[in-house]
Amino acid sequence: MNAEPGPSAEEDLDLYAILGVTKSASPNDIKKAYRKLALQHHPDKVPEEMRAESEAKFKQITQAYEILRDEQKRELYDTHGMAAFDPTRGGPGAGGVDLNDILSQMFGMGMGGGPGGPRRPRRSPDEDQPYKVTLEELYKGKTVKFAAEKQVVCSQCKGTGAKEKVKPNECDRCGGIGRLEAYRQIGPGLVRKEVIPCDHCQGSGVYYKEKDRCKKCKGKRVVKETKALELYIPRGSMQNDRIVLEGEADQVPDMTPGDLIFHIVEEPHDTFTRIGYDLSADLHVSLVESLSGFSRVVLKHLDGRGIHIDHPRGKILRPGDVLKVPNEGMPHKKGDVRGDLYLIVKVDFPEDGWISSDSDYEALQKLLPPPPPPIEAEEVDEVQYEENADIEKMGAHQGDPRYTGGEWEDDDDDGPGGPQCTTQ
Ligand SMILES: [Zn+2]
Ligand SMILES: [Zn+2]
Repeated sequence: MNAEPGPSAEEDLDLYAILGVTKSASPNDIKKAYRKLALQHHPDKVPEEMRAESEAKFKQITQAYEILRDEQKRELYDTHGMAAFDPTRGGPGAGGVDLNDILSQMFGMGMGGGPGGPRRPRRSPDEDQPYKVTLEELYKGKTVKFAAEKQVVCSQCKGTGAKEKVKPNECDRCGGIGRLEAYRQIGPGLVRKEVIPCDHCQGSGVYYKEKDRCKKCKGKRVVKETKALELYIPRGSMQNDRIVLEGEADQVPDMTPGDLIFHIVEEPHDTFTRIGYDLSADLHVSLVESLSGFSRVVLKHLDGRGIHIDHPRGKILRPGDVLKVPNEGMPHKKGDVRGDLYLIVKVDFPEDGWISSDSDYEALQKLLPPPPPPIEAEEVDEVQYEENADIEKMGAHQGDPRYTGGEWEDDDDDGPGGPQCTTQ
């Protein structure tokens, strides 16, 4: 533990005074004092209207007892004060006192029903945010250094919000609990009851007059700070992978800080499509290459390498053919294993009018296989046609449920008799 030289005990919370004992009290005296106070202030032992107040008192005496009953913790407190128990300052983190644990130790399980109302979480919330990464970056892996502005517990007052030697006053708005019940509208006519931190005392349960507040944080108990952080994205990371910076979320007094989490959002790529560790890309070949083979670099990989394909003569590549290149997909996070690369053949046909002379056409006709045999019919009609028609328009607006092309232009048409899946 790296407990810095902290303030002396009388500068912050006086645990001995809370339990009403002297600094030289024996462990037995401390136990007796706690027992008496705990019974007196136990939230289950008081009328409903006093419950909030007594819960706060109970929490305070329990925290004091939790530290003073432990020889090691008591020594730490005597030397460094409450700072020794502040996890944000490297303390062992006595913030997580479990009332029920103490209760069962003191009074046996019978009384461990817990205080009325929900308990305060001991960890500040995690912060989750998307982080956009290109496929190239995911292929190679990436380290990002950035300056994060975060909320930290005020170092001047160690999160009390008060100047030195100021005695705490119980917050009168929340009755010292540090939180309030509030109603929040979550939808039309839908209201949920929630417990929110008290804004009067910033959730501390104690309130200080303006002149008593800490100068640095102005009583807010926390300040903004810029911290240099580093984000490491392992190669081969996937969409929605989470990168967790432990304890780097905003700090909240009396809580262990939550994690700062980035989840990866893979940006779409112009050339490659990814599924799992496999990649696919279009393989554009010319008509002559599709017919007579080729040997060339067909595309640049995500690390800039050229991918060379040798396709021999005698094998024709047809549109939609798929070539699989093993081990040229995305790298796995560990080891040298990689996924596969699927190349989907697209044949680029020549432009209109690429040859014009009759002799060239004749040469081509001689070279290529002949047309199919003629179709015999009794009657033949010569028809007109449009070029570049859209197959998506086939069957549109004709009420046939088999029509699935285009977009639904009018959702109101989907009444009875509209598109539906039924088996008969
Ligand atoms: Zn402060
Ligand atoms: Zn309050």
